[in-house]
Amino acid sequence: MRRKLAAGNWKMNGIGIDLEQLDRLMELHPNPTVDLMICPPATLIHPMAAKTSEHPIHIGGQDCHTNEKGAHTGDISAVMLDDAGARAVILGHSERRADHGETDAVVASKSVAALEIGLTAVICIGETLEERESGKTLDVVGEQLAGSTPDIANGGNTVIAYEPVWAIGTGKIPTLEQIAEVHNFIRAELEKRFGEDGKAFRVLYGGSVKPSNAAEIFAIDNVDGALVGGASLKADDFSGIITAL
Ligand code: 13P
Repeated sequence: MRRKLAAGNWKMNGIGIDLEQLDRLMELHPNPTVDLMICPPATLIHPMAAKTSEHPIHIGGQDCHTNEKGAHTGDISAVMLDDAGARAVILGHSERRADHGETDAVVASKSVAALEIGLTAVICIGETLEERESGKTLDVVGEQLAGSTPDIANGGNTVIAYEPVWAIGTGKIPTLEQIAEVHNFIRAELEKRFGEDGKAFRVLYGGSVKPSNAAEIFAIDNVDGALVGGASLKADDFSGIITAL
C-alpha cells in the first residue's frame, strides 16, 4: 500500500520570518497519518531541518547539481542538501526545464546524484498546453518519464510528480478524467519498466491544487498525493490539502 504524500514546493519564496509557517504546520498536524514534505529555498533548508528534527515532516531541496562539488558557481550538490538536513529533492521541475534548459538526460543524472546520497528524488514531468492541444500528452509524459528516471530508481527512493505546465500557478486544472488518464498511463509505464516494483512508486499530481479541489483529485486512482506550489506557502491552506488526503 502506497502512503499518501503531500509535498510543498515553495519555489523562490520564503525568508526567515516564514519559518513560522512551518511551526504552524507542525502545530496543526502533530501526528500526520500521511507523509509530509516541504521544499523551501536552499537558504531555509538547514533551519527547517533543525526545527523538524522531532517531527516526521521531511525537508527537501528544489534542485541539485550532477556533481558532488567543484567549480559550479551558484549551484548546490546533493551532498550539500543532505548535509543541510534535506531528505529529498525536487528534480526536473518544468520551471527548471524552461529557465535552465534542463533536459531529461540532465534530470536523470541529477536524480542519480540525489539517490546515491540517499535523498528521495521527486522527478517532475508534464506537458505544455500546446502539447496537450495537439494530442501529444501521453507521448511527452512517457518520453520525459523514461528519460528522466534513472535505472537505480525504485518505488522506495523515487516519487514521480505529474505537473501539466499549463496548470501551474494558473488556477486551471485538467479534468478529473484527464488526470486519471495520465496517472494510469504513468503507472503502466512504471510497471512495464520496473515490474512489480512499479506499483510502489508514488505518483503525485501538481498544478493549482487547493483545499477546494484537493479531495476530488485525491479520490482518483493512482493519485498518491500532491506537489503543491502557491497553496503550500501558508500553513492553513496547506493543511486544508493535507486533510483532504
Ligand atoms: P501551483 O500549486 O502554484 O500551481 O504550483 C504547482 C507546482 O509547480 C509545484 O511544483
